[in-house]
Amino acid sequence: MNDVIYMDYSATTPTRKEVIDAMMPYFEENFGNPSSWYSIARNTKKAIDEARDKVANAINAKAEEIYFTAGGCEADNWAIKGVAFANRKKGNHIITTTIEHHAIMNTFKYLSKQGFEVTYLPVDKDGLVNPEDVRNAIKDTTILVSVMYVNNEIGAIEPIKEIGAICREKKVYFHCDGVQAVGHIPVDVVNDNIDMLSMAAHKFYGPKGVGALYIKKGVRIDNLIHGGGQERGKRATTENIPGIVGMGVAIELAVKEMEEESKRIGALRDRLLNGLVERIPHTKVNGPIGEKRSYNNVNCSFIGIEGEAMLLLLDSNKICASTGSACASGSLDPSHVLLAIGLPHGIAHGSVRLSLGRSNTEEQVDYVIDKLSEIVNRLREMSPYWETFVKGGENYDDLF
Ligand SMILES: *Cc1c(COP(=O)(O)O)cnc(C)c1O
Repeated sequence: MNDVIYMDYSATTPTRKEVIDAMMPYFEENFGNPSSWYSIARNTKKAIDEARDKVANAINAKAEEIYFTAGGCEADNWAIKGVAFANRKKGNHIITTTIEHHAIMNTFKYLSKQGFEVTYLPVDKDGLVNPEDVRNAIKDTTILVSVMYVNNEIGAIEPIKEIGAICREKKVYFHCDGVQAVGHIPVDVVNDNIDMLSMAAHKFYGPKGVGALYIKKGVRIDNLIHGGGQERGKRATTENIPGIVGMGVAIELAVKEMEEESKRIGALRDRLLNGLVERIPHTKVNGPIGEKRSYNNVNCSFIGIEGEAMLLLLDSNKICASTGSACASGSLDPSHVLLAIGLPHGIAHGSVRLSLGRSNTEEQVDYVIDKLSEIVNRLREMSPYWETFVKGGENYDDLF
């Protein structure tokens, strides 16, 4: 990555060298179809088994509860539609939150068109779900609750264990989008009372296009792809062996290095967040402060500016950042997550997400603080919105 400063690790991560090295033989000499009987095929079958063990170990699941997918969105879609359709006779009420990734949001939207009744739970000003709201929303017809582990935009770590315990008590299936959590913070599906958990390898330095869904033994769920017997008949198609091998190696490394990396990167995150707040007046930090914030997330709104203009200027200074979720950028609507935590449209527009990772250093953090404060000052000088604000035309005291 040489001279660019990459601070968009929540959008994706580069594949680690160790992971690529482990994958390469499965493109070349070990290319056999694992469903075949000869020895080069046995090698690939064994490689898949080993990767499945590694993914299972990382989240305290059993190997037979791990199903490989083509990424996080696929795992999310499968879990929600698969459970909704398989349990329709029992009820048609499904529950999620207002801050989910588009993979969840748009799947729920689709299901509401198919006749399911959807409840969207609100969040507080930090983006946290109240478990008691989950309890109060569950009724006789409820079959599924889906709440994400770590929010991809503002880094809020949700009270998953408590929500899971309520779902278990009420005998309602609990799905968790764990894409930003797995490989980053400790996740234990048993302790956390999770029935289904989505994961994506490219969010923890594995390859793109591969992920997994944990499905607790006994969960009633429809098959995803009808065909052969792969993934125990639930998801047919010849396996993405290099990808699966890469995911196994990546998750093992991520878990091994988690404690140390989250400490190092967490300190950089604090330096960046504090630096921005000190240097740029009227900066609002979005998301929780402290324990309930993911170690790698910075999300700030700067009153009086446009996020798109800020990103262009950051890019011309070789800083890679994001205004929200990568899937949503390109649209002019402000982030649904920032609106859900109560930001007015005008302020939500002037927001930036900086998500840190392995390549980042203290020097880079200091450079980004310098550049970003220059950029915000420059944009504010040109902004009529800022002028109104400074003259006292608008007041946002209650946001801080
Ligand atoms: C990235 C992400 C996804 C989508 O994963 P893909 O592998 O890109 O399909 C889903 N949920 C969350 C929270 C994410 O951050």
